[in-house]
Amino acid sequence: MIKIKKFTFNPFQENSYLLINDEKECIVVDPGCFNREEETELSSYIETNNLKPTMLINTHAHIDHVLGNHFVANKYQLGLSIFQSEHPMLEMAIRSAEMYSIPYTPSPEPQYFLKEGDNIEFGDTSFDILHVPGHAPDHIVLISEEENIMIGGDVLFKQSIGRTDLPGGNHEDLIHNIKTKIFPLKESIVIYSGHGPETTVGDEKNNNPFF
Ligand SMILES: [Zn+2]
Repeated sequence: MIKIKKFTFNPFQENSYLLINDEKECIVVDPGCFNREEETELSSYIETNNLKPTMLINTHAHIDHVLGNHFVANKYQLGLSIFQSEHPMLEMAIRSAEMYSIPYTPSPEPQYFLKEGDNIEFGDTSFDILHVPGHAPDHIVLISEEENIMIGGDVLFKQSIGRTDLPGGNHEDLIHNIKTKIFPLKESIVIYSGHGPETTVGDEKNNNPFF
């Protein structure tokens, strides 16, 4: 059984997630903590609950999703996992931080590269990696059909979709990929998005105004 802890961090109100298994291991996804207070909120939760972070994953490398990469990688000695060709976006995050005047200690270089169809073993369950470009060129989502959950980054939001006006974004690709890769999944799957509240595959398939 996976437990999900959500934090909403930084001026972009980005959702950072801890995926926690029965052995108290946790995967840190898109840590957006950007100052001491938010870093402490994350690490206090980890310590108070005796969790052992075992992986650091970015769904994509937009600045709001990578602000805490350095902190998490350094504190828990984790190598960053990311989709192979999303790598150059990490470089761009430095310029984005400057543009928005946000303090940012640059993310470490990725150590592990994920690809479509990878399966991440996690305790007695696992996550499948799907490649869903459109919002960012090499955006991935993590899905556990068994646990009925999807960590969706900025692909799909409750009643909305990710913006496609940033470098490498493509509206048609995003719509196409959601229709062909996300909507065929089980309708009951709960989507934990990069911004805003949770939703389900079925809710978005039936009610999202973009479709
Ligand atoms: Zn994004």
